Amino acid sequence: MSNKADSNNSNNQPSNYEKVRAEQLEYNTKRAKGYREQALKLFPWICGRCAREFTRAGLSELTVHHIDHNHDNNPSDGSNWELLCIYCHDEEHSKHENLIRYGSSTERKTATATHKPFANLKDILK
Ligand SMILES: [Zn+2]
Ligand SMILES: [Zn+2]
Repeated sequence: MSNKADSNNSNNQPSNYEKVRAEQLEYNTKRAKGYREQALKLFPWICGRCAREFTRAGLSELTVHHIDHNHDNNPSDGSNWELLCIYCHDEEHSKHENLIRYGSSTERKTATATHKPFANLKDILK
């Protein structure tokens, strides 16, 4: 009789992909927590759009928006952060998506109509 006891090849090591993903997830969570806490220390707890005020109890509805939409851009002076309530934040992002998808038709219209009002501001200030 043959003894094939070691055919039970248990390979329980996580794949490299899963490991990387887990690390990335942890990094994202840490980073998000980091800038949110910083922003909440820097700014008053008020939505930058609808001016709704927040207390610690409702603070989960106050979120940090990245003004340039780049979540990797987190200057410690808060210049790329804006505190927005979840509703205004939502709107801000759908606005941004529309901008990418359809282009800023309204901005283009006003730009041609007003004919660059600040174009010669530098000359005026001289
Ligand atoms: Zn709001
Ligand atoms: Zn945002």
